[in-house]
Amino acid sequence: MQAKLGAHVKQVIQVLVHLPAHSQMGSVLSYWSEQAPTPGSLVRVPLGQRELLGVVWDGPAAAAQLPEPEKLRPLAGVLDGIAPLNAVWRQLLQFSASYYQRSIGEVVLAALPPQLRELSAVQIGRRLKRQTLADPPSTPTPPDFEPVALTPDQLQVLAEFEQDRKPGLLFGATGSGKTEVYLQLVQRLLARSPQAQALVMVPEINLTPQLEARFRARFAPRFGQQALVAMHSGMTPAQRLHSWLAAHSGAARIVLGTRMAIFASMPSLQLIVVDEEHDPSYKSQEGARYSARDLAVYRAQLEGARVMLGSATPSLESWHHSRPEGGRYTRLTMASRIGRDASPADGQARLSAQPDGLPQVRRVDMNHQPKHGVLSPPLLEAIAQRVARGEQSMVFLNRRGYAPVLHCRDCDWKSECPHCSAYRVFHKIDRTLRCHHCGFTEPVPRACPACGNPDIAPMGRGTERLEEHLAELLADVRRPNTASALKPEGEPVRIARIDADSTRLKGSLEAQLAQVHAGDIDVLVGTQMIAKGHDFRRITLVAAVNPDGALFSSDFRAPERLFGLLMQAAGRAGRDAGMGSQSEMWLQTFHPHHPLFAALKRHDYPAFAQQQLQERAQAAMPPFSYQALVRAEARTQDIAQGFLSAASAAATTTALAELLEQVSLFPPVPMSIQRIANVERAQMLVESGSRLALQKFLGAWQATLQALRTQPAGRGLIRWAIDVDPLSI
Ligand code: ADP
Ligand code: ZN
Ligand code: ZN
Repeated sequence: MQAKLGAHVKQVIQVLVHLPAHSQMGSVLSYWSEQAPTPGSLVRVPLGQRELLGVVWDGPAAAAQLPEPEKLRPLAGVLDGIAPLNAVWRQLLQFSASYYQRSIGEVVLAALPPQLRELSAVQIGRRLKRQTLADPPSTPTPPDFEPVALTPDQLQVLAEFEQDRKPGLLFGATGSGKTEVYLQLVQRLLARSPQAQALVMVPEINLTPQLEARFRARFAPRFGQQALVAMHSGMTPAQRLHSWLAAHSGAARIVLGTRMAIFASMPSLQLIVVDEEHDPSYKSQEGARYSARDLAVYRAQLEGARVMLGSATPSLESWHHSRPEGGRYTRLTMASRIGRDASPADGQARLSAQPDGLPQVRRVDMNHQPKHGVLSPPLLEAIAQRVARGEQSMVFLNRRGYAPVLHCRDCDWKSECPHCSAYRVFHKIDRTLRCHHCGFTEPVPRACPACGNPDIAPMGRGTERLEEHLAELLADVRRPNTASALKPEGEPVRIARIDADSTRLKGSLEAQLAQVHAGDIDVLVGTQMIAKGHDFRRITLVAAVNPDGALFSSDFRAPERLFGLLMQAAGRAGRDAGMGSQSEMWLQTFHPHHPLFAALKRHDYPAFAQQQLQERAQAAMPPFSYQALVRAEARTQDIAQGFLSAASAAATTTALAELLEQVSLFPPVPMSIQRIANVERAQMLVESGSRLALQKFLGAWQATLQALRTQPAGRGLIRWAIDVDPLSI
C-alpha cells in the first residue's frame, strides 16, 4: 500500500532497518507517513536507490536523531496483511539488543525470516492466502489423547511445576522420561486453552526430526498437521517464512526449533521448553551472541509464560539457580531411567523405573597399557566380544580427520597452516592437508617440504585413523550371521564412521543413522556428533578413547562440557530391553582417579556440580561473577591488542571510571587460536560481581569503542565485538 503523497499532515515515523555494521547512520531511520502505522508494523522504506524491509518502532531507541521534516521521505508501503509485532515481542528484542550490545535494527531484522525482506506486499498476501487455504478444517470431534500411565516421578514433577510460577529445571538422566513430561505440559496447556502456544527448543537441527516425529504423533491427530511447525536454519527460505507466519498468526500451536526460535513471534505464548539446556549450541557465535536458554527465561517472565529447562547434566548456572535454598528456579528431579518394559503396550504392572538402568563405567588406566596404543587391549577385547554377540559398540574421539598433524622426523617440519596459528589436519581419504579453521586445503606433499625427506608420518590420531585401526584389529572377529544359514561361521565386522566429514552430503547423516538403527553396523566411530541425542537402542558399549584433554584445559568450562558429553554418551548405551545394566561405558585415561571420572562412575552429577561450583565460588568465576569479552581482529597482533589497550585506558579517564569500582578490566591477550586466515585475534576480559554494573559499563563503553575506531588506535583494525556471558574464554 502506497502512502499518498501531498498530504496535509506529515507524521514522522521511526523505522528499524538493518544496515551494514560500518554504516554511520544507526539503525533507526525517520520517514513520514500520512497515517501513523502501529508500532511493530512491517513496512518497506526507501533508502538511496533501494527499498528495505523495516519495522515501525517506538521505545527509547526511537528517540534517535531527527532530521528536518522536509528532508524526510515517505514510507514506501505497509505490509498490512501481517499483524504488527506485539509489544512483548518488541520488548524482548529491545532487551536482547541492549543486553548483548548490538544494534536494535540488526537484532530485529535478523529475527525475521529472510524471505520477508525479498517479497513484495502482494507476494506475501498470496502466501498468506495459500497458507490459510491449506489449513484443514478442524474435525468436529477430534480424537482424545491416548492416556499415558505416567511414572510416579513424572506425576510428581508435573504437580510440583504446576504448583508454582518459577522456571523449572528438570534434572533427569537420558531415558528418565523428560520428553514425556514436555509432551504432557504441552498437552495440558493446549487442552486447557484454545489459543495457547508452546515453544519447544532443542539444541541442534539433527535432533529436531526425532522430537518432531514424537510431537507430531501426539498432537497432529487432535490439532491437525498445521498445528506444529519447525524452525531451524536447515529449512528453505520458503519453509521458514511459512513457519514464521503460522506462529505469528497463532495458527501454529507448537513451534519446535533451534536457538533462533526464541525470537519467533508467538502472540499467545504460554510455555517454553528448553531441552538439553546445558548445550553450548544455545549460544550464538556470531552477530548478537545471545543465549537462547537465558532469553527463554527472560521471555517467559515477560510474557507471563512458564518455562521448563531440562537436562541430564544441567549447566552449572542453572544448577546453581535451582539450589534448594534461595534459588530462582525450582529443581525437579527424576531419579531413574524408565525400563523399556514400562511401555503402555506391556501393561502397567512394571511401570516403576529401574534404578540400575545406567551403564557401568570402566576406567582403563593408560599408564599401565602398552605405549602408543590407540585402543587398550582390554577395551579391544570388550568390543570384539560385543561384535561376536551381535551387539553394537560406539567409540568416540573428538577429532576428525586421519591425524591432527603430519610430521617430519628428520627436520621436525609440521603441517602448519600458512594462514593460521594451527596445524593442518591430514585426511587420508583424499590425501589432503586441511585447515579446520580457514579451510585451506592442499594435496599431501610427496616429501617433506623443508628437507625433502620422503618419510613424513602422521602424528596423533583422528576418527579416520581410528576407524582404519579398528578394522585391522578386528579383522578376525566375526559377527553372527543371522541373514543366511550358508555362512554359519559369520561375517566380517562392519564399522562405520560418523563425523562432520562423513556427513557433509545432505541426507548422509540420516542414511548412516538408519544403518546403525537397522543393526547393519557393529562398531560406530565418531566425534561428539554421535554422543548427542540419537537414540541407539542396541548399543551396549560406549568408549571414550582420549577424554583427558579437557581435564587440564585453560578454559574453566572444559570439565563441565566433558562431563556433560560423557554422561550423554553413556546415556546412549543399553536403552534396549533389559540391556541397561549389562551395558558399559569405557574411559581410557591417564588420570583414572580424577574426581570428574569418579563422579561419572557413580553417575553422580550433583557431586560433580558441587565440586565444580565450589571451585568457581573460590575463584569468583561464573555463576558467581559476570563476564564479557571484547574481541578485536586486525592484520597484526599489535594493532588488535593496541585497540583493546586504548579502549581500556579510555575507560579509566572518562565518566566510566566510577563504574570501574565494580568492574575489572583484564589486560588484552592473544586468543587461543591467535591467527585465523591471516587475521590476528586478541581479546580482553571484563568482569564484575554485579550483572547490573557490567551491563551499565558495557552500555556506556560502547560509544568509546565506537569512537576509537576512527582514531589512531583503531587504524588497521578489521573488526571488534563484545561477547556477553561468553562460553569459552
Ligand atoms: P528422556 O527425554 O528423559 O530421554 P523419554 O521421555 O524419551 O526420556 O523416555 C524414555 C523412554 O521411556 C521413551 O521410549 C518413552 O516413550 C518411554 N516413556 C516415557 N514415559 C513413559 C511412561 N510414563 N510410560 C511408559 N513409557 C514411557
Ligand atoms: Zn623434513
Ligand atoms: Zn588455516
